Amino acid sequence: MLRIGCHLSSSKGYLSMGHEAVRIGADTFQFFTRNPRGGAVKPLDVADVLAYLTFAKENGLTAPLAHAPYTLNPCGKEERVRDFARMAMLEDLERLSGIHGVMYNFHPGSHVGQGVQEGIRLICELLEEALAKDTGVTVLLETMAGKGSEVGATFEELRMIIDGVGAPEQIGICLDTCHVFDAGYDIASDLDGVLERFDHVIGLSKLKAIHLNDSKNPFASHKDRHEKIGEGTLGMETFRRILTHPVLCGLPFYLETPQENNDGYAREIRMLRGLAGKG
Ligand code: FE
Ligand code: FE
Ligand code: ZN
Repeated sequence: MLRIGCHLSSSKGYLSMGHEAVRIGADTFQFFTRNPRGGAVKPLDVADVLAYLTFAKENGLTAPLAHAPYTLNPCGKEERVRDFARMAMLEDLERLSGIHGVMYNFHPGSHVGQGVQEGIRLICELLEEALAKDTGVTVLLETMAGKGSEVGATFEELRMIIDGVGAPEQIGICLDTCHVFDAGYDIASDLDGVLERFDHVIGLSKLKAIHLNDSKNPFASHKDRHEKIGEGTLGMETFRRILTHPVLCGLPFYLETPQENNDGYAREIRMLRGLAGKG
C-alpha cells in the first residue's frame, strides 16, 4: 500500500493537520516544528496532541514527519547560529517524543566557508548531544542539492555524519528526489544505479523517507528549485518507477511541490496513487 502525504501547515496544531491530511486523501504528512525562517515556538498543547493521536489511529495516519526550520544550521560560522541550532533541535526532539511514529528531518547544514570536514564535525557534535537523551525519535538527514556550502549533497558526506555519531541506529536518511538529481545522482535515467550507490555507501536500511519533488532545473545544477510532479526535468515516468520500486515502495512519501493550496496536493496524491497502481 502506498503511503503518501504532503507538507502541511502546523499553525493550527496536530489535530488540524490530521483532519487536513484525511481531507486531501493523504495517509501521512510533513510539517515544520516551528516557523521555518524564525525561531520561537508555542507551548505544546497536550490536549491537541492526545486528540490527534486518537484521530490518527482511527484514520490510519502514520509516520508524521517533523521538519526542522531552515534556520537550523549546526555548522554555522557564528556561535549564535550554532546555539540556535542546538536549542531548537533539543527542544524539538523533546516536544516530539510523545508523537507516535514521528521522525525528525533536518538539513545537515551549511559550513559557510569553514570546510566540509569542520562542518561534519560540528553536525556530529550536535547530533551526539541531541541523541544522548534518547527521545525515541528517529532523526533523518536530508539529502541536499549542494547549493552554496551545503553539507550532505553526497552520500559519502552523509555516511561520514552517521559514522561520526555514537548512536547511529537513531539516524536515518530522507532522500529528496529534486535534491539528489540536482546534486548529480541521475535518478531519471539510472534509478537502480543510484540506489546501488546509496546501498554501497550508506546502506539501504538507513533510508527511511522520500521527499517527492520534481525539479525546475537540469541534472546536477545544484539549485534546489522544486516543481510539480511530472512538470519538471524528472518527469512522470521517473516517479512511476520510484513509487513502484521494490526498495522504495514501502517507504513514506512526502510531497513538497509548489502548490497554491492543499487542493493541489489532493490532486497530486490522487494522480500518484493512480500512477503507482500501474506498476
Ligand atoms: Fe527539506
Ligand atoms: Fe525536501
Ligand atoms: Zn528543496
